[in-house]
Amino acid sequence: MATIYSHSRLSSFENCPKQFEYRYIQKIPAASEGIEAFVGKRVHEVLERLYLFVGRDQIPGIEKVVDRYHKLWEETYDPERVRIVRENTPLSYYRQLGEDCLRGYYLRHYPFDESETLGLEKRVVFPLDDAGEYRMQGIIDRISRARDGAIEIHDYKTGARVPSQRILDQDRQLALYQIGLSRQYGHDTEYRLVWHYVAKNRTCVSTRTKEDLRKLRSDTIARIDEIQAATDFPAKKISLCGWCEYKSRCPLWASPEEVARVEAEEAEARAAAEEAEAVDDSQLSLL
Ligand code: SF4
Repeated sequence: MATIYSHSRLSSFENCPKQFEYRYIQKIPAASEGIEAFVGKRVHEVLERLYLFVGRDQIPGIEKVVDRYHKLWEETYDPERVRIVRENTPLSYYRQLGEDCLRGYYLRHYPFDESETLGLEKRVVFPLDDAGEYRMQGIIDRISRARDGAIEIHDYKTGARVPSQRILDQDRQLALYQIGLSRQYGHDTEYRLVWHYVAKNRTCVSTRTKEDLRKLRSDTIARIDEIQAATDFPAKKISLCGWCEYKSRCPLWASPEEVARVEAEEAEARAAAEEAEAVDDSQLSLL
C-alpha cells in the first residue's frame, strides 16, 4: 500500500533528510520531547476539551480551564522524558507560558460564538491526484463554519514567533487541509485558514485561490516523488538540531563512540522490555 504523507513528514525530509530517515524509515522511537512540544500538546488538549463543552452549551469558567491545564500537566509531565533545551529557562516559565496562552485565548474568544464548530482534532485523509496514488493525511485542530458561511480551518500555535503575512500566504499545512476538506464541504465554498498564535495572543488569516491549490498539489506530488526516489539521507545542520530527538546518535553531533553507546543502550532497553513482556505472558498462561 502506498505511503500516506503528511505535512510533518514532508517538512522533516526538507529540514534534514537524516532526521527523516531515523523517524520514518528506521522508525526509531523518540526517547524524549522538547518542553515546547509538551506545552503545545497540553494547550491543544485543553482547547479541544473547551470546545467540546462549548458545543454542549456548558462553557466552563476561565479558572476551570486553567485548572484542567495544570491537572493535565501533573498527570503527564515526566522529567526523564521532557527536555529543556534553552539554557537558564526554568520549568516554571514554560508552565506559566501554557497558562498565559489559555487565559489570553479564552478572554479573546469568549463566549466562543464567532463560528460553529464542525470538528475537533479531526483526522483527514485525502488524495492529491485523481488515481489516488499520492495520499496525504493530517489532524485539524478545529474546523468551523463562520457566520458568513465560510469554512474555517483553525490551527493553534504556541511558538513565540508569528510569521509574516507573506509566509502565511505560502504556508503548506493548512492549505493541504483545505484540499482535503473541499471533498466534504465543496470546491466552491469559501475557506479561511486561521492560525491562533496563542503565546502572542494574535490571530492570522489567509486564503487560497484555486490556482494556488492546483500549484500546491503539483508541488507536493513532486516532493513526494523526490522522497520516494531518495536513496541517500544526509544529515543537515539546522537551527532546530537542539530539539531533534536523534541528536545523540546524529553523525554531525555525536562521535562514532557515542552513537555506538546510544545504540547499545537502546538494544539493552529493548531486550529488557521484551523479557518483561515474555514474563507477563508466561504469568498470564498460568492463570
Ligand atoms: S541533530 Fe540536526 S543534523 Fe542531526 S538528524 Fe537531527 S536535525 Fe538532522
